[in-house]
Amino acid sequence: MRITAQIWGTVQTLLQDKMDASTFESWLKPIAFCEDTTEDKLVVLVPTKFMKDWVTREYKEVISQSIQEVIGQVPTIEFKVQPFQVQPQDNNLVVEQVEVVEKTPTPAPAPTPVAQPQQFNTHIAPMPAPVPVAAPAPVQVAQPDAMLEHSTVLDPRYTFDNFVVGKSNEFAYAAARRIAESEDNTMYNPFFLHGGVGLGKTHLMHAIAHEVTKVGSGRKVLYMSSEKFLSQFVQSMRTNDMIEFKERFRSVDVLMIDDVQFLAGKEGTQEEFFHTFNALVDMNKKIILTADKSPHELSGIEDRLRSRLGCGLTTEVHIPGLETRLAILQNKAKNMGVELSNDVAMLLADKITSNVRELEGALNRLIAHSQLTQKEITIDTVHQLLQDLFRNYNKIITLDEIQKKIAEFYNIKMADMHSARRSRDIARPRQIAMYLSKKLTTKSLPEIGRSFGGRDHTTVIHAVKAVDKLIMSDPSIAEDIKILENLLSK
Ligand code: ADP
Ligand code: MG
Repeated sequence: MRITAQIWGTVQTLLQDKMDASTFESWLKPIAFCEDTTEDKLVVLVPTKFMKDWVTREYKEVISQSIQEVIGQVPTIEFKVQPFQVQPQDNNLVVEQVEVVEKTPTPAPAPTPVAQPQQFNTHIAPMPAPVPVAAPAPVQVAQPDAMLEHSTVLDPRYTFDNFVVGKSNEFAYAAARRIAESEDNTMYNPFFLHGGVGLGKTHLMHAIAHEVTKVGSGRKVLYMSSEKFLSQFVQSMRTNDMIEFKERFRSVDVLMIDDVQFLAGKEGTQEEFFHTFNALVDMNKKIILTADKSPHELSGIEDRLRSRLGCGLTTEVHIPGLETRLAILQNKAKNMGVELSNDVAMLLADKITSNVRELEGALNRLIAHSQLTQKEITIDTVHQLLQDLFRNYNKIITLDEIQKKIAEFYNIKMADMHSARRSRDIARPRQIAMYLSKKLTTKSLPEIGRSFGGRDHTTVIHAVKAVDKLIMSDPSIAEDIKILENLLSK
């Protein structure tokens, strides 16, 4: 029976069930069906030679098994190397050849793989199709001989060129560039990059990796999430393979571990990390780490590890300011082949202030919508589509407003919010106002207390608890509070 693209899809689904998600994502998912397939031979495409060798050795067996399960027989399987990248062309996504890490002679043109990322319908797309929102096929950083089997997967979009520099990240960017370009591993070692989620830490780290492994550099990078480090460590313990575990790290020039805060509280792993770390520094290897906090603030990390982590260069990425947010948006839109009007960009940059990931998410949503409806992105559509996102940012509610609204609602005097009167028809609304002050503002308990006629913070705590209880026991109060919250958030 000849295997079709559709059958290959089913086989991949089966494979997905048989292994952990990251293995599947790294190794099996990128395998594409090839039309060269015949009655007795399945031909599939893989992006690199390294991957071909690895997949053949590690997964051919399970692939055969899965095919057997689907069609009841086992064909010969041929793996063809065909580097690919998705590029927009004629409103359609086409799979193109690209060289990623190692320059190899361009292979003869091969048939277009099927089963590749999202195909957009050519006829309805009003603008050039964007690069798909989902991450493109992973790129192997490894040189064929490198010991980077453990899926060093880099995002091809995370380059220095795609990184928008502003006040919030210029120092981190400059340091990352210096490190990437210098062959001197002792400079800024370790490089510790920290900051909140979605601010570009992983992006910068991948950018360094892209640069370091540039064609012809001969340098090896091992990039790992700290979860991966952990799971490999545990596995090596189980199989008594610590020597091999260590060797793997020693054989690289640059070790990158992303989100080291996840090592917190894992004593055995920290111990091992500490030794590996020291050994690598002694061997003049470069170490690059990221975390959500500075080494100094990381909790659950042993002191000696903490001080080791902080002994090189520690840099923070901050929340970008308005100008940088605007530049990031325009840059992303351009990369996706979409025109973004200044009004729309301004609105987004103004409203979405927390981090770059959210900003990107919002933009992706708008673009997807515009593709489907064939309509331009306007201020109105932004409001319509991003209402939920905007609500959180919409407005800063003041204590004064809360008191006013609630006094109005319960028909009491504003002065009673501050007064010492304790009759229930006044005390109850006052408590609700305190409750909503806590819930809808970032003011501290003492601040709230002070604004209610100089009351103590314990009074506020008491009010919050009392209202919490009332909400549970009295549906009409629960309803009142919902209405008030809505009124105040508008
Ligand atoms: P972190 O690792 O700090 O949580 P990421 O590096 O994953 O954040 O960044 C989240 C998203 O925002 C990524 O898609 C990244 O490309 C993008 N991003 C962050 N900062 C910038 C920047 N300065 N310029 C362009 N894109 C950025
Ligand atoms: Mg990250």
